[in-house]
Amino acid sequence: MTGETCGAPCPEDDLIACDREAHQMAGFHRNRAKGRVWEADPLPEAPPTGKGALASMAVRTTRSGRTGAPADAVTTWKDSHG
Ligand SMILES: [Zn+2]
Repeated sequence: MTGETCGAPCPEDDLIACDREAHQMAGFHRNRAKGRVWEADPLPEAPPTGKGALASMAVRTTRSGRTGAPADAVTTWKDSHG
């Protein structure tokens, strides 16, 4: 523990300063003594290889398994040929 704190002043009360360990102004500020939490800079965007990419990959895998079912293909053929 370095003891280095963020120190950002609360916009609603200048007497309150963020006493979180330095956090690059990201996420939220907090003063533990006063029990105050306030907004800081938004967290950096998640890279495209994050959670979303994994989720869409999972969806694609599930779909390709279903569309490969022979029964579905036959139903489609019957529908379009009366
Ligand atoms: Zn802070």
